Amino acid sequence: MSQRFNGRTVLITGGNSGIGFATAKQIVQEGGKVIITGRDEKTLKAAKDELGANAEAIRADVGNLAEIDKLVGEIKQKYGQIHGLFANAGVAKFAPIDKVTEQDFDHLFDVNVKGLFFTLQKSIPLLADNSAVVLNASVAGSRGGAETSVYGATKAAVRSFARTFSSSYVKQGLRFNVVSPGPIETPIWGRDSGWPAAAVEATKQKMAESTPMKRNGTPEEVAAAVTFLLSPESSYILGAELFVDGGKNQI
Ligand code: NAP
Repeated sequence: MSQRFNGRTVLITGGNSGIGFATAKQIVQEGGKVIITGRDEKTLKAAKDELGANAEAIRADVGNLAEIDKLVGEIKQKYGQIHGLFANAGVAKFAPIDKVTEQDFDHLFDVNVKGLFFTLQKSIPLLADNSAVVLNASVAGSRGGAETSVYGATKAAVRSFARTFSSSYVKQGLRFNVVSPGPIETPIWGRDSGWPAAAVEATKQKMAESTPMKRNGTPEEVAAAVTFLLSPESSYILGAELFVDGGKNQI
């Protein structure tokens, strides 16, 4: 295993589950340190225990600006600076347009857009020169799914941030890129989606069939792309979107 992350500390929001946790594992295996965040104390502790001494878990809700400030303050005090950020925390809920509620609309935008924006804004002073930032969007940001009007719009905003933040901070040597996963088997499908439990398995099958590769992806397959974008190996890639979708948005 290469040691691309030797001497580097990476902050991963939503690092206690799914894609964020798989990315944390890979960075630690490659010699780095990770600071993982989330809201759930139990999964944060379990993730930290599995990751070992090169991981720290801090509870922080990205939907709450005061908690982002507290997180950034704690990292500043303890580490001084970080060398990478994976803005990954996100929620998904799907509904036809006539069934979208104001509460669901606000929650999706509060976490996926506002939370992500202020995580980036407030973390920038922590980032060492030539750091890389990866934002987790989705294929839904550039597709017209019947039940993804709000979720897709949040991810289109995320995609846009990679361009505007890159433009503002390129002089500082900071790179912002997006990873856009297709259907990846993680706990998200069962928890926030709004689908009844019995429908989750059927939906997984349907999603797999909808990709040219006829299968869903794994969190590790997304982590491989994220770690590439976080590492110096992607040094000439700026403001870009890398799809990890089994060809779903390409063919
Ligand atoms: P997941 O296992 O449910 O992970 C979501 C993570 O976000 C959890 O660690 C969760 O931690 C955290 N989170 C949610 N709300 C938060 C908040 N308010 N504050 C802080 N952390 C919060 O699902 P996943 O599939 O790995 O999702 C990760 C990202 O990938 C999301 O942005 C999602 O939109 C994106 N994505 C997923 C897929 C897919 O098919 N799985 C496809 C495209 C894009 P807590 O519950 O502890 O807060």
